Amino acid sequence: MYNILKSNSEIWGQFSKKEEYSPKQLDSHERFNYSYSMHKDVSNPNVSKYLIQNGFQVEYPNNRKFAVCLTHDIDDIYPPLTHTLLSSFYCFKQLNLKELKKQVSWKITGRTNSPYINFRKIMELEAKYDAKSSFYFIASENDPRRFRYNIEDIENELKFIVDNGWEVGLHGGYYSYNNLDEILSEKRRLESVLGKNIIGFRNHYLRFKTPDSWKILSKAGFKYDTTFGYSDMVGFRNGMCHPFKPYDLNENKEIDILEIPLAVMDVALFDVADSVEDAWNYAKKLIDIVEENNGIITILWHNNVFDNPFRSSWSLLYEKILKYCYEKNAWMTNGAEIWNWWNDGY
Ligand SMILES: [Zn+2]
Repeated sequence: MYNILKSNSEIWGQFSKKEEYSPKQLDSHERFNYSYSMHKDVSNPNVSKYLIQNGFQVEYPNNRKFAVCLTHDIDDIYPPLTHTLLSSFYCFKQLNLKELKKQVSWKITGRTNSPYINFRKIMELEAKYDAKSSFYFIASENDPRRFRYNIEDIENELKFIVDNGWEVGLHGGYYSYNNLDEILSEKRRLESVLGKNIIGFRNHYLRFKTPDSWKILSKAGFKYDTTFGYSDMVGFRNGMCHPFKPYDLNENKEIDILEIPLAVMDVALFDVADSVEDAWNYAKKLIDIVEENNGIITILWHNNVFDNPFRSSWSLLYEKILKYCYEKNAWMTNGAEIWNWWNDGY
């Protein structure tokens, strides 16, 4: 694959993301953003197209045309006070007392009744469309905004997720993305609660440094990462709408990890779109492009969007995406299954 890409220097520069090696600018979270990139046409997966023009072929189980990698970053399992206040305000305005009760009663009846411990409900929704997903959990104590949660509190939930064929992976801590020891200790903590090894990773806030983050994750024993997308745009960060093994331009060699690039994060989608309708049009356009190129589109919907009165339009859009892809007969699955498939055949 590298030989084909290397034969065109422009394509190679875009694929390997040369511009991110010594960036002139980073944002306040030290991220390389879409706004700093010279590749502006991110809804066009031109590197994947170039590979296909040169003989690259992809097949999916049951002859499906394309795949959707469904993922959830679990930033909260208990609504922070700001969410509870906003939710209560919405419920009150709509006179929805049942929902209001759900949003506040867990504070009295116990934290296990928190509306954001909603993995089973998300799984049920996905199962309706013959889909499965990955849940990435935080196992770090440190966070710039607030303490998030103790992963030990939801041991049963984690086991339920994997026992049913969904995936549990690590949502790397905000401060850990460039620290092998921290990532390793978070991985071990999550694995000891789960009682199983994990293979998938995405970092909190999409903090990522090209190519160092891939090297650290590979050393930590992860098989795939799915952080590589923009936080300020939707689309294909390096022109790829297929998973790929990243290439280290400093050491001139492949990095032993699979990147399943992130194309659509809910927050970014609603930032770039003017309305829910507009957000749907963006998502639909990217899905259609991925279908045309037999690719994989990775979608990130935070769990705190579900069971959240002030984000109900976001969760409805998620279901609309599921329905659309189901009707197109896409393979809708989690990162681990995509890694398995890719590892066997490519
Ligand atoms: Zn996060």
